[in-house]
Amino acid sequence: MVVQIALPLPIAKTFSYSVPDRLQSFINMFQRVIVPFHNRYTFGYIVDVNGSSYEGLKEISDILDIHPLLGKDIERLCLWASNYYLTPIGLVFKYAVPKYIRPDRYLFVASLDRAQDKKSLNHLQGIKLEKAFSIMGKENVLECLQDGSITLKDRFTKKEFILYGDNEDKKDIKHEKILFLGGYRRRIEYYSELIETGIKKDKNILLLIPDYDTTGQFFYNTFVERFGERFYWYGSSIKQDSRMETYFRARNEKGVIIMGNKSSLFLPINNLSHIIIERHEEDSYRNENEFKFNAWEVGIKRAEIEGCPITLGTVAPKTEIFKRVHEGDFKVIRDKMPSLNIFSEEKIDKKVFFSGSLPHELIKITEDGKKERKHIIIYTPRKYFSSQLLCLSCNNLFICPVCRGILSYKKKDNKTVCSVCQRESEYKETCPQCGSSLIRFLQIGAEYIKENLEKILDDTEVVIITGDNIKKQIKRLWVNDDRQPEIIVGTSILSRIYGLRCHELIFLGLEEMINLGGYRAEERLFQILMNIIDALNPHKICFFIDSKKDFHVKSFTDLNAFYEEELTKRKNAGFPPYNRLYLVEVEKDNQDAGERTVERIKKQIKESGYTQYLIGPLFEKKKRYRWRFIIKNGQKGLEETLISLYKLKDTHIEVDPTNI
Ligand SMILES: [Zn+2]
Ligand SMILES: [Zn+2]
Repeated sequence: MVVQIALPLPIAKTFSYSVPDRLQSFINMFQRVIVPFHNRYTFGYIVDVNGSSYEGLKEISDILDIHPLLGKDIERLCLWASNYYLTPIGLVFKYAVPKYIRPDRYLFVASLDRAQDKKSLNHLQGIKLEKAFSIMGKENVLECLQDGSITLKDRFTKKEFILYGDNEDKKDIKHEKILFLGGYRRRIEYYSELIETGIKKDKNILLLIPDYDTTGQFFYNTFVERFGERFYWYGSSIKQDSRMETYFRARNEKGVIIMGNKSSLFLPINNLSHIIIERHEEDSYRNENEFKFNAWEVGIKRAEIEGCPITLGTVAPKTEIFKRVHEGDFKVIRDKMPSLNIFSEEKIDKKVFFSGSLPHELIKITEDGKKERKHIIIYTPRKYFSSQLLCLSCNNLFICPVCRGILSYKKKDNKTVCSVCQRESEYKETCPQCGSSLIRFLQIGAEYIKENLEKILDDTEVVIITGDNIKKQIKRLWVNDDRQPEIIVGTSILSRIYGLRCHELIFLGLEEMINLGGYRAEERLFQILMNIIDALNPHKICFFIDSKKDFHVKSFTDLNAFYEEELTKRKNAGFPPYNRLYLVEVEKDNQDAGERTVERIKKQIKESGYTQYLIGPLFEKKKRYRWRFIIKNGQKGLEETLISLYKLKDTHIEVDPTNI
């Protein structure tokens, strides 16, 4: 017997192995097995069983799973994802059934009821599966399992461990796609109704949340208070035992809610009756490692395959979803949205920052706020003191000695930080190029605002909240606390903290998000803006906008108008959702070898007739040499050409990359 094995590596081809006689009767499609590969052992996935063995073929050395873990629906999901994201199936399976999913370590021998010769198996009763393997040999145990002499249960649910999907009940479930537009309080109400219905019918629900610490914790606490302990976390940041507990509960129990991030999309969930994705537009739902995918797309696909409904709850959907609403693919439920009807807009001169002070309108708001003991929250796109350091003598920006990225200044640690490779070094107060000490801080951020406001408003503490310190700060600031500091300065992380008090919300430098570039820049800006307003629910909003920029808050006040315009722009420029984007990247230590690979890519694309869609390569010398091609097109034939590029070493393909 010969099996084709997909290895968890970025290579498109599969490898043939023969199956030794002792293992042949236990072989199943999509099972994990251990195989020798390049002088070591690795695990792989069976993707085909065909023909008889021939000489010289290596043997698989062991079976890892007693039966395939995914079940038909998730297998289909994986095959679809491999195709859709042009990712080798081995990498998709590696993500769907990662190394740490080891049910065998949590199983014990539960009953010998059906055994013909109970006596001879008596010593196995109640012992761990691993121990049973070592007592009577793995193959003998597998045989007993196969003929039903013994059954296994897991230590958490104490339910029998059977093939996933065999105990499904799909009655009263109907597939539909819903976009729920509403502020977070309304979303909680809506999700609660769905959860209640699910629990009543003994069904399970998957609730995707964009993170664990802020939004996730808030939703978890809110729901546990309402429904009690039926909620289970799943994901890579959860401890192994808890993660496996969730794994078994999802697989075996009824009326439970699984909360997790993108990885839970591949979790076997028994009687799945609804998938809810909270804030599907968040970038944290994009998996950037090896198998690059968007959770909202995979979520929609899983709901289609399982035939269950999916709800996306948000205040600012993805443009892609808005298009699907237009096409009638999504049903919209509209509830109360955060409002951006009343706000003030102050045009400021950017030079004010260069001279080392804050706009005086901002100072006035904070001084008045202090008198009236109001809570003021200031948004800035930058977390450090300044994002650039300029030498006034030689007119050069400080750059990273390793990768030539631009250096930021982190005052708290007195360090410069590279914006590209994140390398930190001590700040010496002199220009590394000419030695001058005439340094100017450009593009000021949260640390700068805090320091200057504290100087002006003496004895008022200004608290900074950024992605770096959120875990610590959230403990101080959690929901409606009387000790909330009067002034908070924060980055876009503010959009994830629900329940803060906010009389006045100030946006300082929001328009700079457009400079980050990419075709999604305005959509992102809109999403951050709406989510911050939703989370903080301010009485008053004020925007400080650089007077030199052609930026008008008004173009973000009407949701429909905003998306209509966004779609028109994307259509005209041929960007998603009207076309697909492919990024082909070559990364090498050796420049000549890289150039040879680049030539082969060009040749292959030319031979297939797609040269006119190819942009690049863009060449960069960072830690390694890097070439990047972009291809803008949506034809099937092109995809086949792209998949064939996987045979070139150090070549990666990314579909619909987020940062282009
Ligand atoms: Zn200098
Ligand atoms: Zn660097």
